[in-house]
Amino acid sequence: MSEILKEVLNANEQYASDFGDKGRLPLPPARRFAILTCMDARLDPAKFAGLAEGDAHVIRNAGGRASDDAIRSLVISYKLLGTKEWFVIHHTDCGMELFTNEIIADLLEKSLDTAVYDGEWKDVGTTPGSSEGRKIDFLTIRNLAESVVEDVRKIRSHPLVPPYIPIYGYIYDVKTGRLAEVPQATEAGRASA
Ligand code: ZN
Repeated sequence: MSEILKEVLNANEQYASDFGDKGRLPLPPARRFAILTCMDARLDPAKFAGLAEGDAHVIRNAGGRASDDAIRSLVISYKLLGTKEWFVIHHTDCGMELFTNEIIADLLEKSLDTAVYDGEWKDVGTTPGSSEGRKIDFLTIRNLAESVVEDVRKIRSHPLVPPYIPIYGYIYDVKTGRLAEVPQATEAGRASA
């Protein structure tokens, strides 16, 4: 068994041994809001936004981008589970700023091993690559504030998103743990009756 697998299963044993009342939590999120944010390991939405189990939906992907799948989750979040306010939270020093579709497609074409980064990406792999990466929009980020605005706009203008749900746009600072509003995004995400 891998060390990581052992650690995770041990940690879960501990967690479950003190699970208490959490087994009786209802399915819909009690505080009726959702956060779309990046998968970056430094971000812990439960901690930075003060969530306990059962409080809110947290949808995560690379960049916290409003991909079709993120929107699918948000639609389910309000339509079936009653969320009423949404946050889009990108963050400083996001890995999605470090490459383009072309760069990652080139790397994948060279090998399917992990590439190295030293100011630029280099492929050092030995396995065969694949050109399938050319077919994917990786939703990379050129400008953080702009990406938040773009995603809030995309969600706001989606035909399955009701106008009365406010969508707030923020950038999380990985150096301070603080959320900074992107006013233009929040403005774009403003609810209307
Ligand atoms: Zn990120």
